[in-house]
Amino acid sequence: MPDTSHEIDAIRREWGTRLLILGHYYQDDSVLCHADVRGDSLELARQAAASTAERIVFCGVHFMAESADILTTAKQTVYMPEAGAGCPMADMADITQVEKAWAHIRKYGDDWLPVVYVNSSARVKAFCGRAGGSACTSSNAPRVIKWIMEQGKRPFFLPDRHLGENTAHDHGLTDAEVAVYEFREPDGGLTPEALRNCRMLVWSGFCPIHAVFSLERIGQIREENPQAKIIVHPEAPKEVVRLSDAHGSTSQIMRYVESAPAGTHIFIGTESHLVRRLAAQYRSRLTVDVLRTSICPNMARTNTQNLLKVLKDWPDRNIVRVPAAVAAEARLCLDRMLSL
Ligand code: SF4
Repeated sequence: MPDTSHEIDAIRREWGTRLLILGHYYQDDSVLCHADVRGDSLELARQAAASTAERIVFCGVHFMAESADILTTAKQTVYMPEAGAGCPMADMADITQVEKAWAHIRKYGDDWLPVVYVNSSARVKAFCGRAGGSACTSSNAPRVIKWIMEQGKRPFFLPDRHLGENTAHDHGLTDAEVAVYEFREPDGGLTPEALRNCRMLVWSGFCPIHAVFSLERIGQIREENPQAKIIVHPEAPKEVVRLSDAHGSTSQIMRYVESAPAGTHIFIGTESHLVRRLAAQYRSRLTVDVLRTSICPNMARTNTQNLLKVLKDWPDRNIVRVPAAVAAEARLCLDRMLSL
């Protein structure tokens, strides 16, 4: 690809503080080096909310840019370099299915409170805001679950089954106390007894990038390299999380690596761009490896070419604008999360 760095830098200088470029950690270094702020979903949502920039360019996927639009004012405009970069996990929670499920489960208890992972559409967040629930990220999911359970309510967690199950386990719930709502099956594939008796309900969506980490690979590492440490993201299946040495959000993984004693060999189960960046950053002190190569193709759709194009032409089709009524309700659950 031709080097576009000089052109991008010149446009950034020209716009100054009127422009904010946000870059998710799963982006390639060639894109991330142009970001004013790098972060995980929570950090970038906070930065968008605090920004006064006229234009925000979000190098990430669609639900993140939607959240940025919801958290900013009507005078600010959010763009994506690649308008088609979506998230298959977010797409697994369709608002019509979610509302149908909500009506169904409320026949078996009026003590549910929804909690939606930020990796979800604005319409699903609006549903959550309307119903009095909160959004969460992988960093603060435990805090949000605690907030719900301390009110004597039962969390209806969506769309990520694995983050839901792992957070429930961290909170002390047993597997038998957590039911999975299979969104492709009638009534979620659950009996009335299961819905009445469970203490938490999780939607059966998942992230294909984090679902690939396996028990076999962990077993192989334990055999070949018993001193090595393994840390995985909580979007990985619960069996994998439980056999690992640690689990945590992107920021927590970064802190784990940063504080590891010199000479430690660490295998990381998350998106590979992040792992490779950490491997390069700590090369002189640690050995950092991917648990398995796993790249998010949607994150990889943003590149320096489409970043430059959006900065030069500001095409309307790259604007992410959530309808005002949806944004107002979605904001309720995002604000609730940011205040917890
Ligand atoms: S890594 Fe997974 S959750 Fe994140 S954007 Fe890609 S598919 Fe969605």
